[in-house]
Amino acid sequence: MDISKERKNLSEARRIVVKIGTSSITDKRSRLDPGKVGKLVEETMRLRARGKEVIIVSSGAIGAGVGRINLERRPRKMPSLQAAAAVGQGVLMQVYSKYFGEYEQPVAQMLLTGEDFTKPKRYQNFKHTLATLLKWGVVPIVNENDCVEVEEIRLGDNDTLSAHVTIGSKADLLVILSDVGGLYRGYPKKGKRGDLIRTIKRVTRGVEQLASRNFRGFGGMRTKIRAAKMVTKAGIPVVIANGEEKNVLERVMSGEEIGTLFLSERRKK
Ligand code: GLU
Repeated sequence: MDISKERKNLSEARRIVVKIGTSSITDKRSRLDPGKVGKLVEETMRLRARGKEVIIVSSGAIGAGVGRINLERRPRKMPSLQAAAAVGQGVLMQVYSKYFGEYEQPVAQMLLTGEDFTKPKRYQNFKHTLATLLKWGVVPIVNENDCVEVEEIRLGDNDTLSAHVTIGSKADLLVILSDVGGLYRGYPKKGKRGDLIRTIKRVTRGVEQLASRNFRGFGGMRTKIRAAKMVTKAGIPVVIANGEEKNVLERVMSGEEIGTLFLSERRKK
C-alpha cells in the first residue's frame, strides 16, 4: 500500500470533523484561552475558504465555567462539574462566535447526549438538523450536553462523541487535536520526541495496548484510539495531531506527514 498516497488523499476530504480537546484551548490552569480558540478558528476558516465543510466538536465548557466563576480548581463531584459546564458552555460559544464573527461565519451550538446516538428517532433528528446546518454553510459546534447527563447515558468524553458525529454525518475525515502529537511507541518525555507512529493500518489489540500502557492519564490516548477504531471501521480515516502546531489543519489536509494517520479499514458506505 502506498501510504503517502493515503496521506495525499486526505486533501480530497470534503466534510471534516475537527475534535478540539480541552488542552488545545485552555491555559495551564485549565481556563479557556481565547487566543488558542482564535488560532483554531482562523485555521478552520482556511479550510472553509477551500470549500470544505467543517464540524467542530469542542470541549472546554467545564474549564470555561471554572474560570468564569473563579473556582480555585476543577471540581470533582458530578453536580459541580455539570454546573460548571452549564456556565462555561455559554462562555465557550461566545468566544467561538466572536472569532467566527470576524469572518462573518455563522455557527450553531449542538448539545448532544449518548441517547441521541442510540435512540433511532433522536439519531434521525440529529442527522437532519446537522445536514440542514451544513447546507446553510453554518459551522456546527458540538459538545456533550453535560448539565443533564447522568452516568448511565453519558458518553463521558468528547473523543467518543466525535466518533459518533463523524459516522452520523458521513464525514470524510476526523481530525482529533490534542496536546500530544499523535500515538507514540514510547512515552514522549520532555525535550525528547519519542517515537511517533506515522501510520496505523489497523487498530489491533497491540495498538490499543500501546495507548493504555503509555498514555494512562496523559491526554486520554485510550479514548482517542477507541474513537479511531470506531471511525476507521466505518470506512473513514482519522488523524491525531497536536492542536498547537502551526497550521495543523492545513498541513493535515495537504497530506503532510503530521501526527498519526489511522487508515480506514474499508470503503465508506
Ligand atoms: N464535555 C466536556 C467539556 O466541554 C469535556 C469532555 C471531554 O473533553 O472529553 O468540558
